[in-house]
Amino acid sequence: MLVDSHCHLDFETFDEDREAALTRARQAGVGAMVTICTRVSRFPEILGLANADPAVWCSVGIHPHQVAEEEPVETGTLVRLAADPKVVGIGETGLDYFYDLSPREDQKASFRRHIAAARETALPLIVHARDADDDMIEILEEEAGQGAFPCVLHCFSSGRALAEAALALGFYISLSGIVTFRNAEELRGIARDVPLERLLVETDSPYLAPVPMRGKRNEPSFVVHTARKVAEIKGLDEDALARATTENFFRLFSRAVPPPGARVGPGAA
Ligand SMILES: [Zn+2]
Ligand SMILES: [Zn+2]
Repeated sequence: MLVDSHCHLDFETFDEDREAALTRARQAGVGAMVTICTRVSRFPEILGLANADPAVWCSVGIHPHQVAEEEPVETGTLVRLAADPKVVGIGETGLDYFYDLSPREDQKASFRRHIAAARETALPLIVHARDADDDMIEILEEEAGQGAFPCVLHCFSSGRALAEAALALGFYISLSGIVTFRNAEELRGIARDVPLERLLVETDSPYLAPVPMRGKRNEPSFVVHTARKVAEIKGLDEDALARATTENFFRLFSRAVPPPGARVGPGAA
């Protein structure tokens, strides 16, 4: 069994075939998915998707791109919304200085409010980081110093220094289809060195479809291609990689419950 730890099933591009995409995921062996919130104003729809399918979980938060257009969310609101048993993480949140769609100071302030919510709920913080390595390291280290919280750097495409800082803080690193791209040699080098027990896989669908699906709309079933590439990078067979990343997922996203009969946990074959 594989887990797609990060997808966006609420996006319009799934309106025509959302059910079929979920069926294809199941057929591909994807036994759990987290549909990630990017706008708190859309949280009811996202929670609805999670409630409609036992294999789907969700998060609550505001993407750094949407900070400028969404009502700022208070930590208390995130904590209250995260009380629902289908909410397994806080985010996505973080810093994106590549697109700079929201003022950087506003991104940072929103990020810190999400961190406070992760600390208070003990649900993992789902971090989006792009072209912001120095500020990201500074904020994560400073905030962790004020009280621990679980965390994953999703769709990792940053530099080695950020990966090492995150690992030193006990955080996880999630790899997307980017790791299959021809020009991603540096990322594959980092992936090789991340301890297996700290790795997750994801699609970030509908974006970033992995090779050999590149250019198509991405969907959760395509996580198998990313997992295959990561297994190759780590020198493991695909089953071992699937087992490890799935165990890691349920350890980090501790509110998510493995489906009945899933091969998860010590001694799983
Ligand atoms: Zn993201
Ligand atoms: Zn995302």
